Amino acid sequence: MKCPFCGEDDTRVLDSRPSEMKIRRRRECGKCLKRFTTYEAVELPMLTVEKKDGSIQPFNKEKLMAGIFSAIKKRPVTAGQVQGIVDAVEERFTEGLRTSITSTEIGNVVMEQLKDIDQVAYIRFASVYQDFSDVAGFINAISELGKS
Ligand SMILES: [Zn+2]
Repeated sequence: MKCPFCGEDDTRVLDSRPSEMKIRRRRECGKCLKRFTTYEAVELPMLTVEKKDGSIQPFNKEKLMAGIFSAIKKRPVTAGQVQGIVDAVEERFTEGLRTSITSTEIGNVVMEQLKDIDQVAYIRFASVYQDFSDVAGFINAISELGKS
């Protein structure tokens, strides 16, 4: 790391403080003796979601959570359980070291989780997500409940 004051290559680290995703280093130039701070951070790949129409969007955790929260409205589902569902979705990315998954896959993971947590929330999420435009789709979702 070059000294920002005199351009000297020889700088030494006085101390480094790791925090969760970042390391802060205090450095001192070996020539002009001035001190400066550098940060080292993990660079995460951008996660993307492929929609049904083939378009790509950045993965938006808040949006996913909002969708789940609207499905569990007034249902006995805890914030911890919602976090668990989001974790399960994120695992889909990490387990295969993938940076892109389809919106269909996300919906399936959420439904799989909700099915065991709360059946009303499951039906609500499925009806929005699968866009039940026909009775058959609705009956299908209900019969999925019977299987578990
Ligand atoms: Zn210097």
